Amino acid sequence: MAKILVVEDNALNIKLFCDLLTAHGHQTEPVTDSRDALDAARAFHPDLVITDIQLPYVTGIELMQQLRADEELKDVPIMAVTAYAAAGDDERFRAAGAQAYVSKPISVMRFAETVDQLLEGGRLVEGSSQSSQ
Ligand code: MN
Repeated sequence: MAKILVVEDNALNIKLFCDLLTAHGHQTEPVTDSRDALDAARAFHPDLVITDIQLPYVTGIELMQQLRADEELKDVPIMAVTAYAAAGDDERFRAAGAQAYVSKPISVMRFAETVDQLLEGGRLVEGSSQSSQ
C-alpha cells in the first residue's frame, strides 16, 4: 500500500483515479483545488503525487515546481496526467519534475503500470503510445 496524493480539478476524473488506486490497495488523498495541493502534500507525506497538468489557479507545472522546491517533498515521484500532450511536452514535464506522464483519457492498464513502476523507483516518461497493449 502506498499513499498517493491525487490533484485533479475534474470530479469524474479524480473519482476514477482514486477508485482505481484504492482498488489496487493504495490510500488516496484527493485534491480538487490546486491551491490546496502543496499544503495537502505537506500534511499527507505521499509516496507518489499524481497531478493533472491543466488545473485552474496553480497549474500542474507550477505545482510540480513547488513540490520540487520543498525540502521534504522534492524526492517524491510525480506522475503527470494531461489531456493535451504535444511534441516536446515530455521534456517540459520532466524539467518541471515529473518522472512520467500519461495521457487522458487514460488507459487503465497504463495508468496502473506507471503507478507501480514509480512506486518501485523506476524512472520513465510515458507518452501517449499504445504500443504496449
Ligand atoms: Mn484539468
